[in-house]
Amino acid sequence: MTAAELSGAELAATVRAEATARAAELTAAGRPPTLAVVTATADRSSAWYVRSIVRAAERCGLACAVHDLGPDAEPAAIAAELARLSADRAVHGVMLQTPLPAGTSLEELALSIAVEKDVDGANPLSLGRLASGLPAFAPATAEAVVALLDHHKVELSGRHAVVVGRSTVVGKPAAHLLLDRDATVTVCHSRTRELAAVTGTADVLVAAVGRPGLITAGHVRPGAVVIDVGTNPTPEGGLVGDVAPDAAERAGALTPVPGGVGPVTTALLLRHTVLAAERAGVARG
Ligand code: NAP
Repeated sequence: MTAAELSGAELAATVRAEATARAAELTAAGRPPTLAVVTATADRSSAWYVRSIVRAAERCGLACAVHDLGPDAEPAAIAAELARLSADRAVHGVMLQTPLPAGTSLEELALSIAVEKDVDGANPLSLGRLASGLPAFAPATAEAVVALLDHHKVELSGRHAVVVGRSTVVGKPAAHLLLDRDATVTVCHSRTRELAAVTGTADVLVAAVGRPGLITAGHVRPGAVVIDVGTNPTPEGGLVGDVAPDAAERAGALTPVPGGVGPVTTALLLRHTVLAAERAGVARG
């Protein structure tokens, strides 16, 4: 058996097309949706990701400005920039890119992003609202996991979803979103014992670790749906996921890397920014 491919291309294109149409309406009304990305790193794969966000935003008619504070930025300066952008009425979405300078905490800094502009769900208040069933922007990657499952008509209610990874940007919010969809959810992490025994019971397995090839055929229940969130740069300049190629022989369906979760994540970030701009217009009247 070879797994069916759960591509993100079609869903990403649909989300981008919708964002493009709504962005055009906002721009015509004199309120071009605007995303601000704050960076403080010299990391090359992060720079590549930010460039891809800027390109996607511009193609969809959104404005996107990168505010690069450099890898030596002090936490107070990053927090001040996030607060300044949060107070700027011309900015609708604010995103803090990782990695951050050593000794800084994404969660601590993201408290300076206004919740209504927190389009990548990084502010712990957004995660708290999400976990409480209140409206909030979910981290785009976590939302992309569930959006891809929906797009490919994977049933979640009553099924066992196992999420490997418990970060506040991917694993935890993905677990909450799956729980909201009535899946029975197990979250694994680096201290989980007998990982393969746990993942081997999953109907839906989400790998969000950042270790190439961690999830092998031996971790996958035959026929399971596997979502590979991992994006690990290779020495050759490519990208591989957390799921080893042999897992495709056991899984019923599997997302490709690249081309699975990634493009949907970027598209959802744009959708969130457009939504934030629409809501700002309604709030202002
Ligand atoms: P992270 O903050 O480093 O978290 C990794 C998680 O994996 C942690 O919870 C860690 O457990 C767990 N882990 C590490 N080694 C493990 C092991 N051997 N067995 C089981 N669990 C293990 O990473 P992240 O920010 O969540 O990102 C995860 C991956 O997703 C990365 O490859 C990242 O590049 C990718 N990503 C992709 C997108 C996209 O759009 N496609 C967006 C964001 C992130 P502990 O908590 O115990 O340390």
